[in-house]
Amino acid sequence: MIDKNIVWHEHKLTTKERAFVKNQKPLLLWFTGLSASGKSTIANALELELYNLKKHTYLLDGDNIRLGLNKELTFSDEDRVENIRRIGEVGKLFVDAGLIVLSAFISPFRSDREIVSNLFEKDTFIEIFVDTPLALCEKRDPKGLYEKARKGEIANFTGIDSPYESPLSPSIHLKTDGESIEDNVRKVISYLEEKGYLSD
Ligand code: ADP
Repeated sequence: MIDKNIVWHEHKLTTKERAFVKNQKPLLLWFTGLSASGKSTIANALELELYNLKKHTYLLDGDNIRLGLNKELTFSDEDRVENIRRIGEVGKLFVDAGLIVLSAFISPFRSDREIVSNLFEKDTFIEIFVDTPLALCEKRDPKGLYEKARKGEIANFTGIDSPYESPLSPSIHLKTDGESIEDNVRKVISYLEEKGYLSD
């Protein structure tokens, strides 16, 4: 519940001005996909590429947020909703600061991603679907989590005993079976260039 005595305080400096000194258009690049689909890997490589283009960025990453800001949240449906809600709000503040924000969270529920997208101006939220088949994610299993989930040692694991709802019309659709990390970074950069996001 929001206290009715609390009102949004308008800042003297606006998003536009904060972005102007950074020579960029702020936006949120929201990666979604199964665990081990490649969200973090691609987002990290993309952030490096944006840095080389002299863009000011910040990467919000699932595990890091769960180790700090959201450390009390579990993987229950209810806490997953709260996890994504907070990340959306943090993303919004960082975009307001004039940054290009990359976020790498499974964010399995369509409704949650929609709630986050509704926090943003139409052109500042870009949904990127990292569409890797479950079988390949499970084969990669870089953290051994699928193995644990199959043994019943982890409950509510997305793709195993918790659902993943694929985006219906993502801004960018990436595949990682056959397309390399570099291919996917290029694809995102091309999209951003075509839409004029990277011009000053
Ligand atoms: P997520 O953030 O979605 O949980 P990660 O990026 O942590 O996934 O893990 C993906 C794993 O898949 C990494 O070990 C990465 O090296 C590997 N991988 C293999 N091919 C690709 C690719 N084309 N794109 C992204 N990751 C890939």
